[in-house]
Amino acid sequence: MTAKLLTDIRNEFESGKTLPLSFRIEQLRNFNRMFVESKDEILEALHKDLKKARLEATLYEIEILQNECKGLIRNLKDLAKNSPLPMNLLAILDSGYIKKEPYGVVLILGAWNYPFLLTLQPMAGAIAAGNCVIIKPSELSTHSAATMARLIPKYLDSNCYKVILGDVDATKDLLKNKFDYIFCTGSPAVGRSVLAAAAPNLIPVTLELGGKSPCYIDESADFFIASKRILWGKFMNLGQTCIAPDYILCSKKAEKTFLAVANKVMKEWYGEDLQGNPDIPRIINEKHFNRLKNLLHSTKGSLVFGGKCDNSDLWIEPTIIIDVTEKDALMQEEIFGPILPIVTVNSVDDAIAFINKKPKPLALYTFAKDDKVNKKIIAKTSSGGVCVNDVTWHCAWQGLPFGGVGESGMGAYHMEFSFDTFSHSRSVLVRSFGLLSEKLGEARYPPYTSNKIKF
Ligand code: NAD
Repeated sequence: MTAKLLTDIRNEFESGKTLPLSFRIEQLRNFNRMFVESKDEILEALHKDLKKARLEATLYEIEILQNECKGLIRNLKDLAKNSPLPMNLLAILDSGYIKKEPYGVVLILGAWNYPFLLTLQPMAGAIAAGNCVIIKPSELSTHSAATMARLIPKYLDSNCYKVILGDVDATKDLLKNKFDYIFCTGSPAVGRSVLAAAAPNLIPVTLELGGKSPCYIDESADFFIASKRILWGKFMNLGQTCIAPDYILCSKKAEKTFLAVANKVMKEWYGEDLQGNPDIPRIINEKHFNRLKNLLHSTKGSLVFGGKCDNSDLWIEPTIIIDVTEKDALMQEEIFGPILPIVTVNSVDDAIAFINKKPKPLALYTFAKDDKVNKKIIAKTSSGGVCVNDVTWHCAWQGLPFGGVGESGMGAYHMEFSFDTFSHSRSVLVRSFGLLSEKLGEARYPPYTSNKIKF
């Protein structure tokens, strides 16, 4: 089935159907319409998979996807036009430009934590760039995957855009095929597998991976605002966000102030019965629930907030742990759940040294009113992105590319960066047959006599 599907979609690309901008715009309009008309179906799938609250799902999946479609439609003409090459006097009769060309057939592997967003946002960019696209949503978010498979053929050209469903083995089989581009969102382990599968055919890849995103709070920070922003970013989607602050680095004094605000804010937001609160989602499945429960039970730190686990409900309570050290179980892997460890450091330099001992993170957060502190952290560390005095916000900010570096990924996307990711920048130089142009380049021809050699 896959072999025929791949031959058909390649033939479709080679027919040139996806090249006219009018076709791409029509598809993006239909895509956008899908999010409007099928909003309830999408929200229901997200609730079944993760118990996502309506508002959270609307804001962080549907609205971002609609904005992406609208932005790409608005800017497509500019993005797709040739960029002329500046010419100098020696090349006065020549011309040149950079032509953005689609790669061909693109494979997109989505992740489960924001299943629609992380599969369909890159898809919008790949459509805008003129590619044919196959998406393979994550098998863990079953209902969302099935919803995508049902909706997409209703709205998009079903010969050019396909949805394939399948588990890890099916994905590995799929990756044996020759695509023209692979875009994958997942863990660094998945990234390694995908990169290895792409190597024999030298397929270009974008890898959107994860890691432990640190969050430094300086004593100069506004603790009321900083604490609210950190708690929101950490516990949104019950911690299952790739750019959630993974752990906090701060002094003991800063920790005390943070905890005082955190206790108050969490009560205000969620009341006493967090498990009964409809705004908080659930852990995706039992495997991840057990992983998180084990992490919680293996920590040597002290529990100061939360800590309850309920297997029958895949519920791990938003939890804060202090006195966590570098060697603690919580610091050995990306947490990807609602457990927030605090590691105390004595200075910003200690925080920088701590961050730099670990692989380069996807995101890095620093909170300080003293801007010298923020600037020092940015100058002395590396990460996919940085957000100063807030968390996760940079990811949805117009004009910023989103992607990792080192272990947290390679390549970037969102809006114009997506268009570039899914386009080959082809150099085109058009030389003139004019005599002057020929005269200026004559020295290149043999024989290489001494009067031609001026150096
Ligand atoms: P996952 O299990 O849903 O896997 C992601 C995709 O990879 C799926 O389509 C899956 O079928 C495929 N896959 C899984 N195992 C594979 C293998 N061995 N070979 C080939 N393909 C395979 O998601 P996950 O990996 O559990 O996702 C969580 C991770 O993703 C976290 O590390 C998180 O930080 C990261 N993440 C990153 C981003 C980002 O934008 N950078 C976004 C979300 C999640």
